[in-house]
Amino acid sequence: TSHPGNIGASARAMRNMGLDSLVLVRPQAPPDAESLARAAGGADLVRNARIEPSVEAAVADCGLVLGTSARPRSANFRVLDARAAAAELVAATATRPAAVLFGGERNGLSNEDLARCHALVRIPADPGYESLNLAQAVQILCYEILLAAGEASAQPDAEPPASVKELAALWDHLDAVAGRAGFMHDGNTAQLAPRIRRLLARAVP
Ligand code: SAH
Repeated sequence: TSHPGNIGASARAMRNMGLDSLVLVRPQAPPDAESLARAAGGADLVRNARIEPSVEAAVADCGLVLGTSARPRSANFRVLDARAAAAELVAATATRPAAVLFGGERNGLSNEDLARCHALVRIPADPGYESLNLAQAVQILCYEILLAAGEASAQPDAEPPASVKELAALWDHLDAVAGRAGFMHDGNTAQLAPRIRRLLARAVP
């Protein structure tokens, strides 16, 4: 960062979205009173921020590093939008820490910084002006990570969806019972049967 206010605004964005590990690489100005003011309830992240001399040192322990860029970069990189990036980050943290790397306000990430990245993240924006304020880019990534983490943690408890075979059994049962009850009769079966099948499939029970 060149602007200490952006350190604070980024810390707040992270704190709001449940993230707490902020690492700064050679900030031009160290965190100051303005950083703390802009951080508000996230001031502890500013105080605990690790300051590193290089990107390499900052992400040394990470299994996945995604670099952010408003500009399309080298074709050698896989480019993800923020949502896809968040899903990959959350999945990666099962084994090792993962990082999102943001560039400075003036020049963004250098090619050398990008060399540490496994893929790039590009927040879709107006093609006429794609460069977001740094802390606002942080906010969007953190929000997507919050949502992706929620989905990931909901999954282990969730029961798997019914199989095609189970759905067919449900349908056969319904069909038999509806037939016996007189609900299905010649007049409506032709239309109703496929509709009910689709209803069941759409519900993904
Ligand atoms: N002038 C710089 C822009 C820096 S904006 C440049 O052209 O690269 C500061 C940082 O915010 C960027 O390095 C990136 O980390 C993030 N950022 C801004 N807009 C973004 C976007 N549309 N997608 C992804 N990251 C973005």
